[in-house]
Amino acid sequence: MKFNTKTIHGGQEHDKAYGAVMPPIYQTSTYAQSTPGGHKGFEYSRTHNPTRKALENSFASIENGKHGFAFASGMAAIDTVIKLLKPGDEVISTNDLYGGSYRLFTKVFSKYGIKFHFIGMDNADKIASYVNENTKLIWVETPTNPMMNIIDIKAASEVAKANNILLGVDNTFATPYLQRPLDLGADIVMHSATKYLGGHSDVVMGALVVNDDDLAEEIAFLQNSSGGVPGPQDSFLMLRGIKTLHIRMQRHSENGKVIAEYLASHPKIEKVYWPGFESHPNHDVAKAQMDDFGGMISFVTKGNSYEDAIKIVEKLKIFTLAESLGGVESLAGHPASMTHASIPKEEREKTGVVDALIRLSVGIEDVDDLIADLEQAIG
Ligand SMILES: *Cc1c(COP(=O)(O)O)cnc(C)c1O
Repeated sequence: MKFNTKTIHGGQEHDKAYGAVMPPIYQTSTYAQSTPGGHKGFEYSRTHNPTRKALENSFASIENGKHGFAFASGMAAIDTVIKLLKPGDEVISTNDLYGGSYRLFTKVFSKYGIKFHFIGMDNADKIASYVNENTKLIWVETPTNPMMNIIDIKAASEVAKANNILLGVDNTFATPYLQRPLDLGADIVMHSATKYLGGHSDVVMGALVVNDDDLAEEIAFLQNSSGGVPGPQDSFLMLRGIKTLHIRMQRHSENGKVIAEYLASHPKIEKVYWPGFESHPNHDVAKAQMDDFGGMISFVTKGNSYEDAIKIVEKLKIFTLAESLGGVESLAGHPASMTHASIPKEEREKTGVVDALIRLSVGIEDVDDLIADLEQAIG
């Protein structure tokens, strides 16, 4: 089955009771048993729920994996990955990282004796130089948020395999429409499904997908033990969102290209970060591991002024000033004061998150309207 069919049918079967084409919303916490243990595969909805199961099968299908898991949020999914580790273990992570992941690593899991190294991952030798006998996980985000750096997943997986380390990839920005980390050698793929997978800015959810049966068993154990699971209503909305993932991503990528090129030619713009440009430092890797370049773009205005950046995001009318990304509607954000405010100023500026940086999540509106909106705001 090809990707554009998997988003609609992958892992799905019609409802056994009445043939409903969409999986019903099984709004139930528990299931009748005929005799103790005599049930139809479902006992309690923290452990399993048929609507969530349909969604987990869909997650696995679109990521070319064997086992899918749904969580109450992207952070609950990452939390589960780190709980695979124990005190004394070490993690090598991208330094240009989603702010919430950085907070979870440094403020929560550091307390439990897990050590994190935040490094630039522009080449695999650098990753390898941080490996020691305690290293258990390499955590990669690509494209990175918000600097749109590209990390070579295949090269990172070679380091991981040579040292018997897990490789996890946060695939939120790319989605499996653009990039399939398991095919490139990753062990775990993670999503904030809140973003492109859901696609309509109406659900908060996370996902993990793996191939290995033992790893899947450990994750299922943690998912049930900690209980950070989504309900059936949200699972249904997510399934509905995924059905249009391929056509949305196609349009996000088309609009993204037009807007990246418009910004790059604008006299008031200093720099545009978008992996589709040949001048992007890792464009070749992006071209090799991604099928297109998506609709996430960051840019800095000339003069690097905080005030100018704030003025622009306040003036935008079609782009909504908001946290988050990946919905059908265009959003603009100011990372230094919004998504990345939890990262200390010196730390974030090292990776390029300066005060004048603006991040766009280009939606699927008519691109002429989006350009006109940017034009009136940038001036
Ligand atoms: C939003 C986001 C997360 C966190 O996901 P939530 O669903 O908000 O918990 C993690 N990684 C990336 C790249 C994100 O954009």
